Amino acid sequence: MTPEEFRAAAHELVDWIADRRIDVESRRVLPDVRPGDIVSQFPTSPPNGDSTAAEMLADLEAVVAPGNTEVQHPMHFGWFPANASLSSILGDIASSGISALGISWESSPSLTEVEEVVVDWLRQLCGLSDQWSGVIQDTASTACLVAMFAARERATDHAQIGAGTLGFGKRLHVYTTSEGHSSVRKAALLAGYAADDIRVIDVDPWTRDMIASQLGAVMAADTAAGGVPAIVVASLGSTAVTAFDPLPDIVSIAGAHGAWVHVDAAMAGAAMMLPERRDQFLGIEDADSISWNPHKWMGTILDTSLMYLRDPDHLIRVMSTNPSYLRSTTGGEATQYRDWGIPLGRRFRALKLWYQLSIDGPESVRVRLRRDLDNATWFASQITAMEHWDVVAPVRLQTVCVRHAPPELGCDSEAVSDHNLAWARAINESGQAFMSPSRLDGGWIVRVSVGTESTERHHLERLLELMVEHAG
Ligand SMILES: *Cc1c(COP(=O)(O)O)cnc(C)c1O
Repeated sequence: MTPEEFRAAAHELVDWIADRRIDVESRRVLPDVRPGDIVSQFPTSPPNGDSTAAEMLADLEAVVAPGNTEVQHPMHFGWFPANASLSSILGDIASSGISALGISWESSPSLTEVEEVVVDWLRQLCGLSDQWSGVIQDTASTACLVAMFAARERATDHAQIGAGTLGFGKRLHVYTTSEGHSSVRKAALLAGYAADDIRVIDVDPWTRDMIASQLGAVMAADTAAGGVPAIVVASLGSTAVTAFDPLPDIVSIAGAHGAWVHVDAAMAGAAMMLPERRDQFLGIEDADSISWNPHKWMGTILDTSLMYLRDPDHLIRVMSTNPSYLRSTTGGEATQYRDWGIPLGRRFRALKLWYQLSIDGPESVRVRLRRDLDNATWFASQITAMEHWDVVAPVRLQTVCVRHAPPELGCDSEAVSDHNLAWARAINESGQAFMSPSRLDGGWIVRVSVGTESTERHHLERLLELMVEHAG
C-alpha cells in the first residue's frame, strides 16, 4: 500500500468510525451470534491479497462489526465501563502512525519521555504525592504480576540471582480476599507462589471489605510458623461489589511484617480524580505499588493501565536485562521502560492519554464521573423504593448490585437465584441492554455497572422499565 492509497482508505475508515459512534444506539448491545458464527463467515484458507480497502471496510461492517458487543452503547451496564473516548482513539491512531519501536530510550526518546510526562500528570490529577513513579502497563493483570515478582524478590532478598524461590527454603505468603480479582490468584501462581500459601482473608458480610484484624492474626501465625508474608493485594473497588479493603490498617499490618502492599484499583482508581472521593483511597501513600486502568471508567481506549511504584529501583533490579545490543550511551540518565515490566517492545500508549487529557481535559472526565455517581445513587434509590427489589451491597461508587425476590418464590433461595439469572439473560438476549449476573452469597444477583460515556439518566429509566417488564 502506498502512502496515497493509505490516505484515501484511512479517510474512509475514520468516517466509518465517526458514523458508528453517531448511530451506536440503533444497534444491539449484545450481538446475536453463537460461537463459531464469525469463523464460519471467513474463508478457511489465507487470502491472496486482492481485496481493496473499500472491500475490507464493507466486510468490517458486514462480518466483523455485528459480532462485537457494543460496550460504547448507552445501555451497556455489564462488567465495567470500557469507555473509548474519541480523543484517545485519535491518540491511538497517532501511535500507529508514528510507528515507533519502543525497546529502549534510544529507540524512541519521545515514546519514553511522553510516557513519563503523562503518567506524572495523572499522578497529580489523582492527588498522589511525588514519591510515586509511573509506567503504563498493558493491563491491571500485568501490573499485578509485576508486583508479585517485585514482592517475591524483596521477600527473598533477590533469590532470583542465586537459589531462586524454590531454593529459598521458606514459604512465601500472599494475602487477598474472596473479592480479589481472578488476576490476583493467577499472578500469584504464575510468579511461583504456592496455591497452599495464598491466604484468603475473611470479609465483612455486608461490605465485603477485608477484615484487617484477621489479616494481622493470619500474618502473625504465618510468621510464627517460619513463613514470610510477601505481599498483600488490597482491592480498592473490587469487581463484583466494589469492596474497599481497609488500606490504612492493611499498610500498617503489612509494614510490621515487611510485606509488599499492591493496591488493585483497576476500576475505581479513576475516582481519585475527584477530590471529594479521595477519602476512599486513604492509606494509599503507604502502599508499595498501585495500579488502575484509565481504559475503564476514565475512557482511554484499551490498553492503558497505570502502575505507580514507590521504589522503581527495586523493580528495575528485578526486571533489568542489559544485553550489548541494548546498551545505552546515556548511562543512567534515561528511563528504560523495558526494565519496568515484562515485554521488551512497547507501543506508544502515552499518546492516547496525551490526546485525551489535552483535548477533552480532566474537568470533562470529572464532570462525567460525577454524573455517573449521581446516576448510580439515583438508580439504587429507585430500586430500593420498588416492591420486592433489593440493593444487595453498598453502593460505593457506580455499581449497583440488585436482586428481585417476588413473593411467590417465598424463601426458596435457589428459585430466587434462578429467577434473577433468567430475567437478566432475557434482557441481555433481547439486545436492548446488557448487565452482568454475578454470584453473591451462593446465589445469582445482577450487577448494574453505570458509567458508559454515553449513558444518561433516561437510559437508566429505560433499564428500570426493562427490568420490571422482564422480571414481572
Ligand atoms: C478489571 C479489573 C482487573 C483486571 O483488569 P485488566 O486490565 O483487564 O487486566 C483487575 N482488578 C479489578 C478490581 C478490576 O476491576
